[in-house]
Amino acid sequence: MHRIVLVFVATAALAAVHESREQALAHWKIHDVTRPVPPVITPAAPGHAPSDATVLFDGRDLSKWQSAKGGAAQWKVVDGAMEVVPGTGDAHTVQSFGDCQLHLEWAEPNPPHDQDQGRGNSGVYLMSRYELQVLDSYQNKTYADGQAGAIYGQFPPLVNASLPPGQWQTYDIVFHGPRFSADGKLLRPARVTVLQNGVLVQDNVELTGPTDHGRRPPYAPHAEKMPLLLQDHDQPVRFRNIWIRELPE
Ligand code: MG
Repeated sequence: MHRIVLVFVATAALAAVHESREQALAHWKIHDVTRPVPPVITPAAPGHAPSDATVLFDGRDLSKWQSAKGGAAQWKVVDGAMEVVPGTGDAHTVQSFGDCQLHLEWAEPNPPHDQDQGRGNSGVYLMSRYELQVLDSYQNKTYADGQAGAIYGQFPPLVNASLPPGQWQTYDIVFHGPRFSADGKLLRPARVTVLQNGVLVQDNVELTGPTDHGRRPPYAPHAEKMPLLLQDHDQPVRFRNIWIRELPE
């Protein structure tokens, strides 16, 4: 009896989130041979995107990117990487994205220059609003929620998995954007999971709202898809092998 009540409460609490999952489990018998099998893809390999990904930068040109100041992105392509040209502004994708799996690689200027937040600062802004910090956090002291792998101003990374400047590092990100009702109320917050260099640094954290310096602003309603943005923080950080897979609802 007790167990039934508990199951009922748990089911009711999760119904809104897991309705499609519950329906799927009810619909298919275990090991049902008529259940559709997943599509076959070619997985990622070093330097190559999975076959079902959208490639945002393949080492050759910035055709998928625009300047946040308007017009074509003014960053430069060097040795198969796109490099921030300080002062030219943030770069954002032409295309908009919502829930996604995102892979990118980044390298800090070597030798390092400056310190704290001034050392190799950039950022991956999911939906142009939610920043996963990019910083040279190898033997560089700064505040915890501002180091590499942090959701800026909200969540420090679980560990500091940073490599020395000049070495290529990876971010693998699973992001679920927020949802808003028609009248602008928050239905669910954004959630993000991040692996830096293959190590879990953000475990499905719920964002408090957009990221900012010195404050945590509340959510403001926005579209379900927005461009991905990389930050120009006046330091020549490099990015390469950027690809994204949109996730189904
Ligand atoms: Mg930044």
